[in-house]
Amino acid sequence: MDDLFLFNATILKNRFDLSQTNIHIKNGIIHSVDFDNIDVINTQNTQIVDCEGKTLLTGFADAHLHLFSYSSSLNQLDVSYPKVKNINQLLNVISNSIENSPEDTWILCDGFDEMDLDNQLSLDILDKISKNNPIKINHRSGHACFMNSLAMKKLSISTSSEDYQRGLIDRDDNGNLTGWFFDMNEQISFLLRDKNQEKRTEINISNTLEQLIHMGIFYIHDASINNDLEKWNICLEHSSSLQFSPSITLLPGIDHLDEFINRGLYFGYKDKDMMLGHTKIIVSSISGSIYPNLNQLSNQISKSHKHGFPVAIHAVTQDEINITLDALEMVYSKNNHPFIDRIEHFTEATPEIITKAKKLGVNLVVNPSFIYQNGFRYSQRIPKMLQPYTFNYRTLLDSGFNLAIGSDAPYGNLDPLINIQSMVNRKDQLGNIYNGNQAISIIESMWLITKGVNNVSTEEIIFEKPSVGDKANIVILNQNLQNIDHTNVHKLAIDVVIKDGFRILS
Ligand SMILES: [Zn+2]
Repeated sequence: MDDLFLFNATILKNRFDLSQTNIHIKNGIIHSVDFDNIDVINTQNTQIVDCEGKTLLTGFADAHLHLFSYSSSLNQLDVSYPKVKNINQLLNVISNSIENSPEDTWILCDGFDEMDLDNQLSLDILDKISKNNPIKINHRSGHACFMNSLAMKKLSISTSSEDYQRGLIDRDDNGNLTGWFFDMNEQISFLLRDKNQEKRTEINISNTLEQLIHMGIFYIHDASINNDLEKWNICLEHSSSLQFSPSITLLPGIDHLDEFINRGLYFGYKDKDMMLGHTKIIVSSISGSIYPNLNQLSNQISKSHKHGFPVAIHAVTQDEINITLDALEMVYSKNNHPFIDRIEHFTEATPEIITKAKKLGVNLVVNPSFIYQNGFRYSQRIPKMLQPYTFNYRTLLDSGFNLAIGSDAPYGNLDPLINIQSMVNRKDQLGNIYNGNQAISIIESMWLITKGVNNVSTEEIIFEKPSVGDKANIVILNQNLQNIDHTNVHKLAIDVVIKDGFRILS
């Protein structure tokens, strides 16, 4: 088909309003926008679609995800609640998998949260069902994992192993390993690197990129702390070998920044569909004390700035956010900073934190699908006093912050429509509402999950509307946003995906 006319589509005019448009796509290129009438219609090769007011987007964006972890999670057993409701079910799932696997094969599980279950997982219980297969069970947060004795032996981890700078090897009172590891995923996946597992993950990268396109996600930021030059090259290889791939902004991990700088790569550097973004830094208090400390953190920020990279700092709790803001303030007071830094997650956003962060002018990347995945956990585990200040998007927007939306997949839900639902109806997967008065409108949500990424990117990557001369990148939803409110937002779906002028889904 040479000519495609899309009539009566609704597009986002700004954060609050919609407007009508007509779009003419010729040979996959946007030929004209907002025209009034069609002069000549060659009926043979022309298709005219009346969108009947349905919403047309230039693609979804995901400003924070983890491509490799997501791709490797596709190979893992899902042991998340409510799929697994107690320790017996967990052991059954693992035993079944062992029965169907050759000896020595790694059994990898994902989505585990001990606090959802009746009992505690212990090394004894796990070792009993698994003498010949190494087992690794990832916590749903991505910040912890549990391994059986064989797995630890295979990775040469013993009682004499040293803790990593920001991680913790858990030990009992006698110094014996308990099987738990906190914030050591980077080290553990490095140790696992030689194994076949890595290869399987890499194969999945292409599948993941294709899946993203099918979901209408055309722009992603990979915010993994272990992003190095090798990962950049692997992503580049996969994305260029595919006919359709999202544009990928890779955030270099702070420990790997030198590799990029030494190669002459810089913030905003582009190669095909890839771009280099902010430096990713993690502030974590999971091991009991905050790492890095204030001085180390401000040194990391200064170093990144010195090389022209703004930073993206992972900070969830009040303590983590406070130290992040203090470090930024220290750095800002010494030097000016040409680009705006971003804070990832920003979960416990108390009024004091909001005032402090606003003064510094940082941008925020938040993860609404956590409400859908974990709302029932938060209402039990986050102190009641603190709950109104968590996932408080209404307040953050009213305070004037620029927000971008990231799924944090595989730890959050990749689906942009789930992220939108979470912002609009604030419901978790069991139907409970979390912090309902922080809901935002569907048009605002849609704006944030599309145009929001521009605030945290090196350049404007999602345009206001389809622009003449560009390859057609279009997502058409099944409804006019004007007709949807929080009670029926879950009915929103994708009708059509057009990438680079080709219909992927219709
Ligand atoms: Zn993340």
